[in-house]
Amino acid sequence: MWLLPAQELGDVDQALDTALTYVNGVAIYALSHAERAAIHAVYQLYDALAGQPHADLTPAILNTARSPLYAAYDQVQIGGRLAKLRERILASTNQCPYCGFGEPRDLDHYLPRSAFGELAIYPRNLIPSCSPCNNAKRTVVPGLEPASGPSLIHAYFQELPNVEFLRADVTFEEGTLQVQYRVDGGGLDPVLTTKLQFQLDRLKLNDRYKGQINKFLSEQRAAMLMFREIDAVLFGEYLMRCANSLGESFGRNDWRPALLRALAANSDFCSSPADYLGT
Ligand SMILES: [Zn+2]
Repeated sequence: MWLLPAQELGDVDQALDTALTYVNGVAIYALSHAERAAIHAVYQLYDALAGQPHADLTPAILNTARSPLYAAYDQVQIGGRLAKLRERILASTNQCPYCGFGEPRDLDHYLPRSAFGELAIYPRNLIPSCSPCNNAKRTVVPGLEPASGPSLIHAYFQELPNVEFLRADVTFEEGTLQVQYRVDGGGLDPVLTTKLQFQLDRLKLNDRYKGQINKFLSEQRAAMLMFREIDAVLFGEYLMRCANSLGESFGRNDWRPALLRALAANSDFCSSPADYLGT
């Protein structure tokens, strides 16, 4: 959850040519040498800016090419001339980096193509995401100034310190386990804390995790109760080991290890897990 390795760029010129040429070989739009060089420069600047918006990403020299590049994104759809690019990006992960559980079926433009048409087919501006996250994010349009408001973190470029920041608050109300996630800013830069919490809120992850948590705990139930029966004293330690193991697979700030850490620290849960896990 949260981060993915940046996409390989592949042959940028070939992708541009494919995008801007009809199947019969006729050019939709013939890029000049200067425009092609400007696109390369924009792509490099995008990486240097870690995907954050900047006026130099929309240079005047691309005013004419911007619209055909914007339209070229249609070729990244299923059946399009750049469908292989789509397949490659979607195949790079089996779960959406925004929520950590959804199946990636959409490509999210981190910087929206409406404002940054020249980045419409740039692989590092395309984040594999599930449809609910993509739809929820659609309304988040980063301004030209990074300071204009929080945006979501960039799955390819955001640097996250190696600390635990995702906390699950666990309570037991009216016969059911209630879990609320929040970002603990103790070891984080305050701007990053705001962004991460904004992401949790904007994507409505606390609501969307409810069904996932039920499913996850029902899968864990038999092993948990068996271990608790064998060794009640070390049950919390067992949960922490499970959390660490899941953290190695999904990242230590994934919702699953955060939940297990919270359960391990909850004495009521550890003394009688069967009461919380249902039948
Ligand atoms: Zn998602």
